[in-house]
Amino acid sequence: GQANIGVIGLAVMGSNLARNLASREGNTVAVYNRTYARTEELMQEHGDAGFIASEDIDGFVASLSKPRTAIIMVQAGKGTDAVIDQLAERFEEGDIIVDGGNANFHDTIRREHDLREKGLNFVGTGISGGEEGALNGPSIMPGGSKEAWETLGPILKSIAAVAEGEPCVTHIGSDGAGHFVKMVHNGIEYADMQLIAESYDLLRRVGGYSVEQLVQVFDEWNKGDLESYLIEITGEVLKQQDADTGKPLVDVIRDEAGSKGTGVWTVQNAVGLGIPVSGIGEAVFARAVSSKPTQRAAVQRSVENRPDIAEVPDSFADDVRAALYASKVVAYAQGFDLIIAGAEEYDWDIDLGAVAKIWRGGCIIRAQFLNRIVEAYDKNPALESLLVDPYFADAVAEGEAAWRRIVGIAVASGIPAPGFSSALAYYDSLASDRLPAALIQGQRDFFGAHTYQRIDKDGTFHTLWSDDDRREVEQEPST
Ligand code: NDP
Repeated sequence: GQANIGVIGLAVMGSNLARNLASREGNTVAVYNRTYARTEELMQEHGDAGFIASEDIDGFVASLSKPRTAIIMVQAGKGTDAVIDQLAERFEEGDIIVDGGNANFHDTIRREHDLREKGLNFVGTGISGGEEGALNGPSIMPGGSKEAWETLGPILKSIAAVAEGEPCVTHIGSDGAGHFVKMVHNGIEYADMQLIAESYDLLRRVGGYSVEQLVQVFDEWNKGDLESYLIEITGEVLKQQDADTGKPLVDVIRDEAGSKGTGVWTVQNAVGLGIPVSGIGEAVFARAVSSKPTQRAAVQRSVENRPDIAEVPDSFADDVRAALYASKVVAYAQGFDLIIAGAEEYDWDIDLGAVAKIWRGGCIIRAQFLNRIVEAYDKNPALESLLVDPYFADAVAEGEAAWRRIVGIAVASGIPAPGFSSALAYYDSLASDRLPAALIQGQRDFFGAHTYQRIDKDGTFHTLWSDDDRREVEQEPST
């Protein structure tokens, strides 16, 4: 074999990734796709990149030099399993199978385990940046063994996006760590998009901003500490005029947000791990609410039945910006908490600063903001929460009054801002010296004898709640 790397699956992502690989010095790229027509298409359009194309899987495997390294870019789930089986039958000890699809990290853990037993290296790898990223440099989040990383690292570094002079790829941790972090990345992406959407909605419906004015606002925001790909494309989306009607395109797009499910995975896993990713949760739920047209129509109120739009201060746009920034800090803090919890649960050694670093380029959530997160974990890798890093603590404190004003205005005006308000509730919960959880413990003990702990004594307590026998008894610690 003469190819040092191969790509299986030549749809949007695979073909672009193959082209990216082929464009780097020293690479010869083998390509294969189940349906040969796709391979032919790639060869016709970009054959001069020097691919070695195969019509069948045997030819593909034979075209790879040893240790063989193949990146799978096919439909996540069954498609990926099918291709892994085909490769596993043909690959030999020491060869490397990379899954670059959006796999569920639980699948990745299973696959890595099964393939390791056969002596094969399996590297589940998150790849973010869509089509454009795959071609010009994505953010890459590989899991798998350290040994596989030795071989794979240089290749991935050569095709990754570059941010501040560094390639946006790092070995995240063993087995499913890469896909887990990619999952959290997507969850944060949901939260970030929701917060931007709420900002837009408030500015427009409460602040009375026109779409043209909003383009200016987002342009302006993109020059400050909110500078990011998502803010930039928001301006671009708002700029777009519909050719048919001459209206802003955003006004003719149905207001029902779709999703491919990685946000749901993030929330499901967070719930299982007991991590309150409320920002991501609200974003997932907001998309779900938007996609219930019948229910929405049934509950919709007539204009005269809606709350009056609240008066807005002159500082309204700045206030919204501050609320967006503070809520964004919360969403990222929660996302990183989830990574910490995942690392603990699945025994991964994840460098949080390194994760923030590789998200600075190539991926959808790339932003200036991530530099602050890198600095925060540089200063203190054991940070209790991003919210207590001095830089973020100051930033949130500075915006706090505005954040509260905006949530108040949204509530009074009947404009949903679940991202802003739940982020604020989360912040206020952490910041409270005492929570009503004490009452909940009392309720739990009342109906289920679930016991409680006291602030003034060690031990586990249960109260005998019936009227004639109200007293507290100490429980034997249960195991
Ligand atoms: P799709 O997810 O649309 O998958 C299509 C590809 O999968 C085709 O090459 C298809 O082959 C192949 N395939 C499906 N089932 C099988 C099977 N049983 N055996 C062999 N091949 C099969 O392609 P995308 O390029 O959009 O995405 C590829 C992967 O990358 C997915 O896991 C996706 O989630 C992930 N991803 C996508 C991003 C994006 O922006 N699109 C971003 C990041 C990751 P055939 O031509 O024969 O049908």
